[in-house]
Amino acid sequence: MNRRDFVRTTVGATLAASATRSLFAQAPTIMSNSIKPVVISSANGNKFKNGGEMTCVHKAWTMMTQGADVLDALIAGVNTVELDPLDTSVGYGGLPNADGVVQLDSCCMHGPKKRAGSVACIEGVRTPSLVAKAVMEHTDHHLIVGKGAQNFARSMGFKIEDDLNTDESRKIWLEWKRRTDPEHYLDPEQRTAAGNKVMMEMVAEGLIDRQHIYGTINCDGINSKGEICGVTTTSGLAWKIPGRVGDSPILGAGLYVDGQAGAAGSTGRGEANLYGLCSFLIVENMRRGMHPKDAGMDACRRIKGNTVEKRLLNSRGEPNFGVNFYMLNAKGEYAGVSMYAGASFAVCTEAGPQTVPCEPLLQGKPED
Ligand code: ASP
Repeated sequence: MNRRDFVRTTVGATLAASATRSLFAQAPTIMSNSIKPVVISSANGNKFKNGGEMTCVHKAWTMMTQGADVLDALIAGVNTVELDPLDTSVGYGGLPNADGVVQLDSCCMHGPKKRAGSVACIEGVRTPSLVAKAVMEHTDHHLIVGKGAQNFARSMGFKIEDDLNTDESRKIWLEWKRRTDPEHYLDPEQRTAAGNKVMMEMVAEGLIDRQHIYGTINCDGINSKGEICGVTTTSGLAWKIPGRVGDSPILGAGLYVDGQAGAAGSTGRGEANLYGLCSFLIVENMRRGMHPKDAGMDACRRIKGNTVEKRLLNSRGEPNFGVNFYMLNAKGEYAGVSMYAGASFAVCTEAGPQTVPCEPLLQGKPED
C-alpha cells in the first residue's frame, strides 16, 4: 500500500494532508520574536516518514512556522506515524491486545484555547489523535472510550475499519499466542510469567523492537507567539488485557499542557506514570521556574520512589522498566529525560530535525 492509500483512510487525515500540501507550497515565514519555535517528540517522531519526505517533528515544525495552528501542525505530524505500518506502537499496525485486537488511545491539549480531548480503547480508526481533537472541538467532554468512541468517530465521518492489524502485527501476535498459549491458558500467574518471558525472548530475537513493548508518540510544540500545544497517541502496551488503558489518553499523565507554563508528555510504562500523574507534575514544576530537564528528572525520581513492589524491581532494587518524558516551557526551552540511559528524543528547530539522547536518571539496564 502506498502513502496515498494510507492517507486516504480517514476523512481527517485527508483534510490534514491537503492542508499540509497547500502549506508546503508557500515559502516558510518565521515570525520574528524572542521565542524560537520548537517541536519535540519521542524518538519515533524523527524516524517514520510513511513514504513521505518529512518525519513527524519536521512536518509539524514546518507547518507551525508557516502559520498553521500549533495543534493542527502537531497532529498532522503524528498522523504520519499513526498511518505508518512500520511503527508497531502507534495507530495502524500497532501491536494488538491479548485477543489480537488493536485498541488505540490518544489525547490532545490546546494551550491558548484551554481545551482538551481524548479517546481510549478505540478500535477501527487509524488516527485516534484526530478523534481526540474532534472530542475537543465538537463535544462538552474530555474523554470518550471504547464502543462509544468508535460510534462518535463514525458520526464525525471517520472511516471505521474491521481490523487495524497489518500482516506484520498479526504475525507477531500469532507468534506470541503460539508461545504463551500452547494448550489454552496456564494458571494466571504462570501465564503472566510465561508472557513476560516470551516477550523478552521475542525482543532478543529481534521480532519486537524493545521500544515497542511500550511505545507511543508524544509531540509538543511552541510557536513564535508562545502558543503551546501537545498530542499523545498510542496502541498501548503490547498484548494488554482487552480494555486496559494506560497513561497516554489521560490528561495529566500521557500529556499535560498549560499555555502559560509549558507542555510535557510521556512514553514508557504507563502504569508508573499514571500513578503519579507525572506530566502534570512536570508542568507544575516548570510553572514554579524549574528548567524542563530538572522538572523531568523530578518526575523520574517520583516514579522511582513510588516503585516498591518486588516484581517491578531489578537486582539493584531499582525500577525494572523504562519511562521517558519530553517537555518544553513557555520560553521554548526543552528537554528529554529517561529513567535509564539509552533513550533518545526528537526535536526540530531552525537547525532542522534531530534525534538526541535523553538525560538519564539511572545508569545500567532496567532488567539487570
Ligand atoms: N505509555 C504507553 C502505555 O502505557 C505505552 C508507551 O508509551 O510505551 O500505554
